[in-house]
Amino acid sequence: MEEEKREGREKTEDNALLKITSIGGSGMFGMNCMLLESAKSRILVDCGIMFPADDDWGVDLITPDFSVLETQPLDGIVLTHAHEDHIGAIAFLLKTMQKRGFRGKMPIYGTDITLAFVKRRLTEHELLSSVLFNVINTKEEFNLGDCRVECIDVCHSIPGSVAYAFYTPAGTIVHSGDWRIDNTPMAGAKTNLARLEALGDEGVRVLLADSTNVEVDDAMASELDIYNDLLEVFTKLKGRIFVTLFASNIGRLQSIFTAAAAANRKIAVCGRSLNSNLGIARELNYFSMPNDMEIVAEHKIEEAGENIVVVISGSQGERASSLYKLSQAKHNNIRLRPSDTLIYSARQIPGNEKRVGAIVDGFYRQGASLFNPRDAVFHSSGHGGRKELELLIELLEPEIFVPIHGDYRRLSMHEALADDMQPSPDRSITIEEGYTLKLFSDRHELEQSFIPSRRYVVGKSLDGMDRDCAREKKVLGHNGMLFVGGALNKDEQLRGELRIEEFGISSDKSFLKDMQDELKRTIISSAKHGDMQEIIRHKAAKIIKQKLGKFPHVIVHFEFV
Ligand SMILES: [Zn+2]
Ligand SMILES: [Zn+2]
Repeated sequence: MEEEKREGREKTEDNALLKITSIGGSGMFGMNCMLLESAKSRILVDCGIMFPADDDWGVDLITPDFSVLETQPLDGIVLTHAHEDHIGAIAFLLKTMQKRGFRGKMPIYGTDITLAFVKRRLTEHELLSSVLFNVINTKEEFNLGDCRVECIDVCHSIPGSVAYAFYTPAGTIVHSGDWRIDNTPMAGAKTNLARLEALGDEGVRVLLADSTNVEVDDAMASELDIYNDLLEVFTKLKGRIFVTLFASNIGRLQSIFTAAAAANRKIAVCGRSLNSNLGIARELNYFSMPNDMEIVAEHKIEEAGENIVVVISGSQGERASSLYKLSQAKHNNIRLRPSDTLIYSARQIPGNEKRVGAIVDGFYRQGASLFNPRDAVFHSSGHGGRKELELLIELLEPEIFVPIHGDYRRLSMHEALADDMQPSPDRSITIEEGYTLKLFSDRHELEQSFIPSRRYVVGKSLDGMDRDCAREKKVLGHNGMLFVGGALNKDEQLRGELRIEEFGISSDKSFLKDMQDELKRTIISSAKHGDMQEIIRHKAAKIIKQKLGKFPHVIVHFEFV
């Protein structure tokens, strides 16, 4: 059976030795997903989601359109690390494939902590029985079809992050994953520069590299610097200290816990995701609890005195988070006091400024404050800046350079950076989502292989919304809806009243009465002149446009009696 599949697969291939297709993450932040295909293997590297924009009403998550993956089986999904923009869409890919008849178990490869995060997500979706977890480590290589795969430790804002080297029929392909250099991380490994250099010596055909911080010239602070800043503040400040961060930043959690212990403060952790992540990290030895640390349960925080650090989730202003509730005086167990201080230990993701602003405002409204002196650093990116990106290219000396993980601006800047470096002035290729880089033995080509689309997730379902549905929802959200209904006799004259209802158009309802009179006149004058429902729909839309300058969705339904 397996042989048949492979033979069938070979027949459909053109003569490229390897095809690299971007399914997401190229020209955007999020949805990282890259497909590598040789004659005998089909490997997906990462499978992430994107978070919706503020005006994507009712959309919980966005995934790539997986239709390109549905037609042929995959040998496995290989994961670089556990961030949602790299693992969050696996459940939805599996659901899509199962709809198309996939009944097997999808092999998934990742480090122990990456797979623990995936396991938690798939459990929520009741999909655990549809996968086969393969824990990888940097000591052993593994095979997928005709490709050998090696993973290399990299430092990032979540431990267990790796880069990959794929030894393919077209040569060695290196995927950087998300990475930076930090020689004093608080959790997880350092980036294995020696191994990357050795790979460069062996010869690299293609490097796919993280572009996130290509605009950043300055060296990034080490996690140890952040620990020192936190320790200073925890020691000096009076009153309770709340610290918010990204819930998956285990290294930062380690810094906060260790600094709190050194400053003789108790600690409490508020937020489901924070507690769950901490549990995983402790179990897998990526986090060590400081000795004699007094941990305060959430419902005991109010009685625990002032000498405490409360780690709290919700740094991006998520409405359901502990931090948001606390800032709006709606937290079940904690009330803010004037002596309380909030430390932001996370960057604001662009687009979240309003919601983050509401949190900070809420603290001030209740007399508490935000700690934000200019010279203290409480966050450092998990992505390397320009100098680090240059170093990676220098070490690997790829024949072809492909920037990934960034919006178009950053991909272009990263492309220019690689081209400016010696000795290969024109080795860079920016692949957009939907494009395929085809590698032959002595040349390469770029071609568009599909028109990219999006899938909008509502709750746990992928079926909730497609692009058209999301657009309709936006129209409804912006302009509201009008309903017109009634009964018409065989001469298309109104029997009984004409019903008009509006939803979200205007709080001044006076326009409805005039509209009712006008529409009734139109019915009389237009009888037998065409599709009455269409005529009334046009007329109603025109009236609202004239009176209110709005374009609501208009629904007309007549019963013919
Ligand atoms: Zn990441
Ligand atoms: Zn990422």
